[in-house]
Amino acid sequence: MKEELLDIYNSLFEKYGPQNWWPGEGLEIAIGAVLTQQTNWKNVEKALLQLKKANCLNIDCLKKIPIEKLEELIRSSGYYRVKARRLKNLIELLSINPKPDRLALLAINGLGDETADAILLYLFEKKCFVIDSYTFRILNRLGLYDGKNYLELQQIFMDSLPNNLQLYQEYHALLVKHAKICCTKNSPRCGNCVLNNCCLYNSKQNK
Ligand code: SF4
Repeated sequence: MKEELLDIYNSLFEKYGPQNWWPGEGLEIAIGAVLTQQTNWKNVEKALLQLKKANCLNIDCLKKIPIEKLEELIRSSGYYRVKARRLKNLIELLSINPKPDRLALLAINGLGDETADAILLYLFEKKCFVIDSYTFRILNRLGLYDGKNYLELQQIFMDSLPNNLQLYQEYHALLVKHAKICCTKNSPRCGNCVLNNCCLYNSKQNK
């Protein structure tokens, strides 16, 4: 699969250019990774803005702030009660262990593989390829992977790609971009897709 995955990366990069992901810097990346669960980035931005206005994008404030106040500030991100607790737990961890490993992140209630890997890849610059529902969708339609196993697909990417941090960061961002504007959940725009010459879904549609 090595050649296919590199060809896909090159085609997407040529089409969309560098994505300069993840938005924000430092702690904001980790907070954004928690807030973006089950919502779109616009809602996350609103919540981050509220936290910024309250001078609360730092460990000190997030540790001290009452949970009810935190819920209020991040309300726009949805599921704000659950997310406020997840944030508190994450901040607790970061305050005693500023560079947690994957296992430590996964031990936080509600933090799954995708969120943990996004924090590791974009905040701590660890080479952990991030898989999400967009990755599954695109790989499935291309006919390259038909399972639903996060760790298995992550391993396929990591075994196939050069061991390069920027490539991992950029590739995930490009897949998200492609899924949002071209390989959409319903009615993918295959006619305009740079991957349509190697896509199983597209060839079935054209039979
Ligand atoms: S050709 Fe269609 S289904 Fe295949 S990757 Fe492109 S948009 Fe998705």
